[in-house]
Order: sequence, then structure tokens, then C-alpha cells
Amino acid sequence: MPRKVTAYGCKFRCGYRVTTKKATVEAHEKTCFRNPDRKACSTCAWHERDTCEDLENPGFFKNYSICHKPDFTPPEMYKKHGVAWDCPGWEEFGELPAWMEIYDECSDEPESTPNNVIPIF
Ligand SMILES: [Zn+2]
Repeated sequence: MPRKVTAYGCKFRCGYRVTTKKATVEAHEKTCFRNPDRKACSTCAWHERDTCEDLENPGFFKNYSICHKPDFTPPEMYKKHGVAWDCPGWEEFGELPAWMEIYDECSDEPESTPNNVIPIF
């Protein structure tokens, strides 16, 4: 019969590897993108991740990172990687993402700034 072991996983359920070393996971949790203390896109009320058809390659799809925060320019690292942390525009996720509240009633499209739509891979 196999021996039973205790393993630890990230409390933010980010998919980080499960390990028997508790300290390794505790160290990870401090820097995890799903940790609200990091103020990263993945926990921000203004962030949306969407998949749309790639206009340059019809039939193929691309992931996009979208920052909907009005009158806000995301940090440089967002423009490079489609994700940022320690973001000055970060806001805590409420019941619904904040960006849903700025949808135009007559359109399915949110009023976002095109510069803030970043393709990610
Ligand atoms: Zn994690």
C-alpha cells in the first residue's frame, strides 16, 4: 500500500505546482498573481481577458488582455506583456467586474481605449 503524504497548493488556486514543502508554497503565495496584495491584472475589477478571431489569420483565435479603466494608462509592463502588477489603477473585484458597468446600453462592446487592448499568447 502506498504511503500517505501531505502536500500543499497555492491558496489562490493559480495552478502553481503542489509540493510537500509548505515554505515553498508560502513564498509563492506572496508573489502569486492571484494574490490581491500584488495588485495584478488577474484580480483587478477593470481587467478582462478575451479570445477573439485573429484578423491577420482568419480562422485562428488570439487571447487579448483588456484594461477597461477609463482615463487610465496602464503601466509600461502591461503594454509589453499584457499583464501588470503593483498597478496604480488596480481596484478590488466586487460582485461583478467594474468594466461591465461601463458597457454601452445599445452595444455589446465596452467603451474601452483601443491602446489598452494587448494581444497575449
Ligand atoms: Zn499561486
